[in-house]
Amino acid sequence: MPNFNSLNKRYGKLIAERDHGWMCAYCYRILDPIVRYQPPNDYGYCAAIQHADMPCIDHVVPVSRGGPEHIDNYVLACKSCNSRKRDRLPGEF
Ligand SMILES: [Zn+2]
Repeated sequence: MPNFNSLNKRYGKLIAERDHGWMCAYCYRILDPIVRYQPPNDYGYCAAIQHADMPCIDHVVPVSRGGPEHIDNYVLACKSCNSRKRDRLPGEF
């Protein structure tokens, strides 16, 4: 399973362009992609950095419930929504 760091690097900008910009898909908090590009954090592994506005890649359908590792299954989420959602579907969250 790819870690969030590599997911952020590869997909963060693509998802932001596809969706509503750098915004949490669940609470609509504006996220701060700049943090991702500042060393030494190197794109900011969202779970490792205590920054509320850090964009995280969230799996809409969790991998543990059969969701694919594909951009169609990714949205941007803030750290708190990402950690509260865990392995639930959006309707259960
Ligand atoms: Zn949120």
